[in-house]
Amino acid sequence: KQSWMSRLKAGLSKTSANLSMLFVGARIDDELYEELEAALLMADAGIEATQYLLDTLKRKVKEDKLTEAAAVKTALKELMIDLLKPLEKPFELGRHQPTVMMISGVNGAGKTTTIGKLAKHMQAHGQSVLLAAGDTFRAAAREQLMVWGQRNNVTVISQASGDPAAVSFDAVQSGKARGSNVVMVDTAGRLPTQLHLMEELKKIQRVIGKGMEGAPHETLLVIDGNTGQNALAQVKAFDDALQLSGLIITKLDGTAKGGVIAAIARVRPVPVYFIGIGEKIEDLQPFNAAEFVEALLA
Ligand code: GDP
Repeated sequence: KQSWMSRLKAGLSKTSANLSMLFVGARIDDELYEELEAALLMADAGIEATQYLLDTLKRKVKEDKLTEAAAVKTALKELMIDLLKPLEKPFELGRHQPTVMMISGVNGAGKTTTIGKLAKHMQAHGQSVLLAAGDTFRAAAREQLMVWGQRNNVTVISQASGDPAAVSFDAVQSGKARGSNVVMVDTAGRLPTQLHLMEELKKIQRVIGKGMEGAPHETLLVIDGNTGQNALAQVKAFDDALQLSGLIITKLDGTAKGGVIAAIARVRPVPVYFIGIGEKIEDLQPFNAAEFVEALLA
């Protein structure tokens, strides 16, 4: 726990640098608020969340007659925790046999790495996992997943060609037949601007539901936290198309744009199940609002 917190702090240090420094020896005046506004925008918190935090903070400073910079910082922390708290939702497997998860994201977001981390995590908790390589476009992506599966004793279902929706359907059938606890359907990386590909994702989601009623039980989007406001645009586009049940935000280590989580909370509050702060298996952790804010405003 302790080491995760220190790694989270180190990971977010580029985002927190400007924010935390502001309050050191500061007077509570317009200049402080202007600097805070600039720092929040720089951290990619976005206009809506920045405005909301500033307005609410000013009101609170007045109401509570705060005169010390340290007290203002504490007030900001509390506001931020309140803002981010609704995104906190523990990831739990339901009683479904199997629980079917559909996982999407644009190329390079960290989808494959994250699926690997999740599969190992669930395996370690005694769950049998079946992976479906729904990316029938890129042979390399499929092979990468097959090799990974062999190395980690995770069954990977794949088809060299064909309709990704059909591959996903087969995977659900296969998961049922084998008594798997979890079926993870990896989908081809794509950009939300590629409309026909978004239509195809919708089709995959529908067809999975034909293979098992109520499935997919989780529709997840993996976003790269390092892309800031761009990641927010992806959340909106994928949520419009697929009604996401959760997000996984990767690469929050070493980014100056970690404030994007505040933008997500304000603009499109899809639960954040996990955050990634590195490439190793233990670098994926459940999102916790208080911990995150503590790292941001250390
Ligand atoms: P995909 O195209 O979405 O499947 O992306 P990959 O899983 O192949 O990941 C792209 C790159 O991001 C790889 O080099 C990963 O090691 C790296 N990556 C994934 N998650 C994280 C993270 O949380 N932090 C860092 N620093 N790198 C990550």
